[in-house]
Amino acid sequence: MGKLSKLLRMCGFDADYYKPGLNLENIKNFEGEDRVILTRNQKFKKYVGPLKIYFSEHDDPLMQLRQVLKEFQLADKVRFLSRCMECNEEIVPVDKESVRGKVPFYVFDNYETFLQCPKCRRVYWEGTHVEKMRDKLRRVLE
Ligand SMILES: [Zn+2]
Repeated sequence: MGKLSKLLRMCGFDADYYKPGLNLENIKNFEGEDRVILTRNQKFKKYVGPLKIYFSEHDDPLMQLRQVLKEFQLADKVRFLSRCMECNEEIVPVDKESVRGKVPFYVFDNYETFLQCPKCRRVYWEGTHVEKMRDKLRRVLE
């Protein structure tokens, strides 16, 4: 589900990813948060509590994304370039001059708007990867 959480972040959703460590005991730590647990692990079928547990049927992260966006009616809420794919922080617009030397030359020359993650300092822009993602999403949501 690591790939799914990156895709969700790319679409602007608050998505945390927990490596195998999540189990029926520590899942209770999340009971106070308004979160949905997405998993493929059947052991969570035994969970009784306030959390919504959602089981994915698919192996393909794009199909998982499609399932999630449809199930939770999130397709209209997709906001590309709003959250860092690596750390789930909201990214903020930054001055073009401030990213000089931090992005490839052709990117610096061809784009005017840049965003940056306040945590890992990764720089984002409306590049071809965003276009590709929009296309992919359009296709899976058809
Ligand atoms: Zn980051």
